Amino acid sequence: MIDGPMGEKVVLVVLGIFASSVLASTTDKVAYHLSYDLNEPEIVQVQIDLPDTGRGERVLVIPRAIPMGYAEVSYDRFVEQVSARSKNDAPVSVVREAGPRWRLGDANTTLSRVEYSVNVATMEQKLLSGADSSKIRKDYLGLLGYSVFGYIEGFEQREIELTITVPATWPVFSTLSPRSPPASQEAQANAANFYALADSQVIAGPGPIFRKLPCNKPLFLALHAEAEVDEPLLAKLIEESMAEVIAYYDSVPFDHYTVHYEFVAPLSDKHNYGFSMEHMDSCTIFFDVDGAITATASAKEILRTRYNLAHHFAHSWIPKRACGEGYFPFTWEHAPILDTVWLSEGFVQYAAVEMITDGLVEKERRRIRNELIDARFRRTFATTPDFIEKLSLVELSRVASTKYSEDFRYGRNVFSRGAMMAMELDELIRERTGGKKRFRDCMRHLMAWSKGERRGFKIAELTDLFKEATGVDVSEVMDRWLTPQNN
Ligand SMILES: [Zn+2]
Repeated sequence: MIDGPMGEKVVLVVLGIFASSVLASTTDKVAYHLSYDLNEPEIVQVQIDLPDTGRGERVLVIPRAIPMGYAEVSYDRFVEQVSARSKNDAPVSVVREAGPRWRLGDANTTLSRVEYSVNVATMEQKLLSGADSSKIRKDYLGLLGYSVFGYIEGFEQREIELTITVPATWPVFSTLSPRSPPASQEAQANAANFYALADSQVIAGPGPIFRKLPCNKPLFLALHAEAEVDEPLLAKLIEESMAEVIAYYDSVPFDHYTVHYEFVAPLSDKHNYGFSMEHMDSCTIFFDVDGAITATASAKEILRTRYNLAHHFAHSWIPKRACGEGYFPFTWEHAPILDTVWLSEGFVQYAAVEMITDGLVEKERRRIRNELIDARFRRTFATTPDFIEKLSLVELSRVASTKYSEDFRYGRNVFSRGAMMAMELDELIRERTGGKKRFRDCMRHLMAWSKGERRGFKIAELTDLFKEATGVDVSEVMDRWLTPQNN
């Protein structure tokens, strides 16, 4: 309560803000319209309609970083024909500025609409990492939100109404509001803010297969394959993996989830595929046609697929909803420098090993667990260069924040050290508690704590949090792994 002579005035001001926010709530949204027309098959059009912005110069920003992508990708290179209009429908000046920015209008402008196109065909040619690029192929449109959507600076936190228009008869699907069968020709969806829009995907065309899969939350598969795929087998692996991840965390943080799969013919031999990306309510798993799951898939391929699925599903919990400091709010013009990539990636990869082996008989569980830990984590250290060993885990995490997959020595080392730390934490906790507690309890507690605190954790808080979860002091294991490896 606020007391004293100013009390009454403060209450009035607070009420005033509350009343205006209620009145303005339906008109404050930013409306995005994405359209694709076969007459211009290489591009998509984006239109942004703003609520009453008031007078002043505005800036359009196109992302140069992918949330949790640990890299910089200049999507502004593929933006063309930016135009803008004022509230009274007059053209507004557009000036390209340094960085991924366009200055719109001047002090007297009331900006109302911004339009631009994105050349997706050029994007796919120029970006050699297939996982970072949207795609337009025959009968298929697959768009990553951050690669096509920009924002007007200052409006990032506004609610968004998205409308998507595609050729007549084409199915159209948004991961923001998934449906099976999907809508035809036009779909609508809402996003809580620009982050949610940018982190979503649009999938359309007569080519892809859309399925709703059995799960205790709506679970969807959107599959575009340019090779033969055993779709029922893939669907079964997705369904089983999601059930394992949900059982592991003992919670479900999303209302729905979409697995967006691509198996595409490589655009050139310089292009590479096989990296996957996690999002709030979806994941994008982009392979070339050689990675397609067929009825003759070996046990090793099945295990690799289940591991990949569990790992990326698990990221919807950590770090998407429980992370270290620096992940949020996201910096769109550069990749954020993060101290806890080892936890986000390493802990979750170790958790994925547990998720896919928990249900096995003990002998089999040990065999597969050891095989995965050796191949994915332990073996990394045999080839780690000295200069990487000399980095503390926080220093390595900062380097990996922008070079994770571009120079995978950093990515591999940072997740391997994090995963080995997790494994030792697990062994210590199980031993000290006579098997009553395990590493999984730390992960569940981190989720519950983050939900309550609504902020990123500090590294210095982790030992206390893990002690709360298990009763075990884990500081010796954590401190040892946080220091340089060749100490
Ligand atoms: Zn990962």
